Amino acid sequence: MTEENIWGPGLSPLPPSAFTSDTASLICGTYYFTEYFNIPYDWETMPRWYMLLARCFGCAVIADTWHYFLHRLLNHKRIHKHIHKICHEFQAPFRMEAEYAHPLETLILGTGYIIGIMLLCDPVILLWAWVTVHLTETVDVRSGYDIPLNPLNLIPFYAGSQQHDFHHVNFIGNYASTFTWWDRLFGTDSQLIAYNEKVKKVEKKTE
Ligand SMILES: [Zn+2]
Repeated sequence: MTEENIWGPGLSPLPPSAFTSDTASLICGTYYFTEYFNIPYDWETMPRWYMLLARCFGCAVIADTWHYFLHRLLNHKRIHKHIHKICHEFQAPFRMEAEYAHPLETLILGTGYIIGIMLLCDPVILLWAWVTVHLTETVDVRSGYDIPLNPLNLIPFYAGSQQHDFHHVNFIGNYASTFTWWDRLFGTDSQLIAYNEKVKKVEKKTE
């Protein structure tokens, strides 16, 4: 981490960023969201479990798509230094690093998470289910650990921590947050694939 940043020498953007993303959106945001849009939370309107799962998956697809394209844009060399550079000060991601970003980045990338809420989270149980899924995925992807028995790896096309770790080392490619399909489709995972093949060859040689 450099000492000089947008907040001045020795001041980290972590606290304000964490405040805007977690405290404001999850706690205050829930209250105003349910009040403003008159979101029901009574037992009668509770959806069945499979509807909860389906809508959470829908929210994850929306958030992942948004993240892929906007994150890719933020990594563009012409604008990287203005906003996204702060996030890339850490080459090895860890949980708190998820909140370590320029406030504008928090707003830009966080919008993808809000779109799903606006479109699919009614009644309020869906909002909390999506928040739980989203935070679980965020913690896992940015944990810095690729645990082989991780149950999240059973989800088809789940990106996991390796993709995000590689993005922080390499800068180019692996822009998606949750799934692998956008990176596969646009070939932005080619460097990770080449790296994994290289590692396999070395491991075979040393066996
Ligand atoms: Zn990035």
